[in-house]
Amino acid sequence: MIELSNVDKHYGSLQVLSNVSMHFADGEVTAILGPSGAGKSTLIRCINCLEAISGGDIVVNGKSVRDKRAVLDIQKQTSMVFQHFNLYPHLTALQNITLAPIKVLRKNKADVEAQARGLLDMVGLASKGDRHPAELSGGEQQRVGICRALAMNPQHLLLDEVTSAIDPEMTAEVLRVIEELAGTGTTLILVTHEIEFARRIADKVAFMEGGKLVAHSDAETFFNHQ
Ligand code: ADP
Ligand code: ADP
Repeated sequence: MIELSNVDKHYGSLQVLSNVSMHFADGEVTAILGPSGAGKSTLIRCINCLEAISGGDIVVNGKSVRDKRAVLDIQKQTSMVFQHFNLYPHLTALQNITLAPIKVLRKNKADVEAQARGLLDMVGLASKGDRHPAELSGGEQQRVGICRALAMNPQHLLLDEVTSAIDPEMTAEVLRVIEELAGTGTTLILVTHEIEFARRIADKVAFMEGGKLVAHSDAETFFNHQ
């Protein structure tokens, strides 16, 4: 459960988020739509404590992002998948996936590797765990990025334009993986320009413009009024 109350965010004199209030219920799939520069990416980066908010509050499972001691807990419950993958180039796909569960969650290496191999299999990359990111296509790297996020067993998964940097012919496999995650109980929040995809999988749609939340409703209501 994620609750935003009157969230403001500015970079110097640039107001990027203005008085945003909304909540994300457990298990819900929300698509965040809106033009470039609307503040969508900043919003989810603030939820994941990658950026500090300037005003208001964000509470994740009862803990505020303003509480420094809560940051690690919030990040354990809330995994992020990035537009540009952000994989470690010197590590293999498998090592990218297992790093945080071993180092941050202090889980048993063999258990984590077994789970990682299962995740790679789920995204169609069972044979590529030993490749480095440079040896994988963009679509394959992004599927590794999704596995890395899922290896933390997060309650919430935040996806930041995860297909925007991938060749169009490679996006289908990535979208298929995300579609499989919808309805599995994980809360999904996806910033996307894939409108048809959002229409297919989202329960809720949030529309942002100029740092403001201008619409937030059931996906059906949103799309029927377009
Ligand atoms: P969106 O995801 O909707 O495209 P962003 O959240 O990425 O929008 O960006 C919103 C605005 O904030 C843009 O004007 C962008 O240039 C600005 N911005 C984002 N990150 C920073 C930063 N670290 N420093 C200064 N401005 C930033
Ligand atoms: P990713 O694809 O990993 O989400 P982006 O390319 O959107 O990353 O942004 C990379 C970094 O650049 C982010 O930390 C973001 O805050 C910062 N950034 C984005 N826009 C601006 C801006 N106008 N000025 C300064 N930093 C920015």
